[in-house]
Amino acid sequence: MSQDNAATMDIGVYGMAVMGSNLALNMADHGFKVAGFNRHGDVTREVIAKHPHPNMSGFYDLQEFVSSLKKPRRVVIMVKAGKPVDLVIDSLISVMEKGDVIIDAGNSFFKDTIRRFQHVDEHGLHYFGMGVSGGEKGARFGPSLMPGGSRDLYESLRPILEAIAAKAKDGKPCCTFIGTDGAGHYVKMVHNGIEYADMQLIAESYLLMKHLGGKSNAELSRIYHEWNGGELKSYLIGITADIFAEKDDKGSGELVDKIVDSAGQKGTGRWTSIQSLEQGVDTAMITAACNARVMSNLLEERENFSKRIVAPDSWEANENIVEDIRRSLYTAKIVAYAQGFALYRSAAKEFGWHLDLGRIASIFRAGCIIQAVFLDKITEAYQKNPQLASLMEDEFFLAKINENLPSLRRVVAAAASAGIPVPAMMNALSYIDTSRSTQLGANLIQAQRDYFGAHTYQRTDAEGAYHHAWQEHYKE
Ligand code: NAP
Repeated sequence: MSQDNAATMDIGVYGMAVMGSNLALNMADHGFKVAGFNRHGDVTREVIAKHPHPNMSGFYDLQEFVSSLKKPRRVVIMVKAGKPVDLVIDSLISVMEKGDVIIDAGNSFFKDTIRRFQHVDEHGLHYFGMGVSGGEKGARFGPSLMPGGSRDLYESLRPILEAIAAKAKDGKPCCTFIGTDGAGHYVKMVHNGIEYADMQLIAESYLLMKHLGGKSNAELSRIYHEWNGGELKSYLIGITADIFAEKDDKGSGELVDKIVDSAGQKGTGRWTSIQSLEQGVDTAMITAACNARVMSNLLEERENFSKRIVAPDSWEANENIVEDIRRSLYTAKIVAYAQGFALYRSAAKEFGWHLDLGRIASIFRAGCIIQAVFLDKITEAYQKNPQLASLMEDEFFLAKINENLPSLRRVVAAAASAGIPVPAMMNALSYIDTSRSTQLGANLIQAQRDYFGAHTYQRTDAEGAYHHAWQEHYKE
């Protein structure tokens, strides 16, 4: 049999670790014939042995893997982000043909995707950079997908991608064409940044309810469960309710209290933060969430300072503190999304992408970690006004901010007086106050810059740039 006659597989997945194997099985479940390949064949053997599927076959030779695919061949790469992706692309280019398609579905940095897009294109092949959210479960049963590449080509991938994607409550697949080259990975990067902020805010609500509200783990579980029945309903609030109810399987009490108070990060939140500084967009809540994880790793220093820096000895919390915290969490969440979506808006201009922010919000409604009923409201906001400069301008969100702002002020003030670190909530409040202030003191900063560096200043009463011969009034 010639190689072409043997080409019966619809799609190949290179990388049989957690994400690749689950995505491959998801495709197989939807009737697509999937070829699986992994650098070390044992991993593929194990996946095939553990999850035998009539639509999935393992391959142990790269040429045979590629030759098994129908033309134009389509290979999804799901390997460790970074150098491995470049190595895999080059090995695929050496065995694939013009017109074939390579889809990188890992968490690649979007600038790498832009570079790879050009590199693959130079070899006459097509490239897609696709963000995938939802972790292991999402990959297996329905992730949120953010593909970036050529729009025409997207149409040929669409039946597979829409079939395997999560479905929102209205039945729509959580997958949409995002834009060219690195757009898909960019959107995934910021999605992860928002996820950092969302998780940090929930962690702060926990600290506040524990220390200001005196709530036990059982009470916390019940409160988060209740919150999950209302406007805060989301995957993250749901798992938080579960976590506080989970007993320690190796001792007494709840497991959450036995977990070290230190959290890691892989990089997408940090990339978002760095990128927002480069683009000149304030995503301070995402940065605060990254820094909170950095500070959490300073276990020894924190232990040491806890004995040397004086803590407040008394504070007051009002009776409605739990409701105030709930409202603060919701309001701060609006700000986190407003910041993330402002970054998308700026990226669309900077990189020449047509980002449909309403569609992007709609594909986060299911399958991904930040899925929440809240996203329906964001989708509606952009449907009403696709040109919305800030999410905070939408009437629904604006009304919520005005309604909840007194709660956020009380909670941040109570946290400050009790010495409870809530950097994300503080940043949210600061962002709102900065947004509503017509006086930020920047006139003084202009004057200082002109004083020491002749950077010039602008006047309130005339056009143009001015330099002033500042006098030294106070000499030492
Ligand atoms: P991973 O732990 O990030 O990577 C392991 C896979 O990469 C294995 O298949 C490994 O092959 C392969 N690999 C490493 N170096 C290689 C090289 N030089 N050449 C060829 N293959 C190489 O796997 P993962 O957790 O399944 O994640 C895959 C991608 O999805 C990553 O980009 C990750 O960031 C992204 N992602 C992960 C999640 C999640 O929840 N885990 C969610 C969304 C996105 P060997 O077995 O041969 O070593």
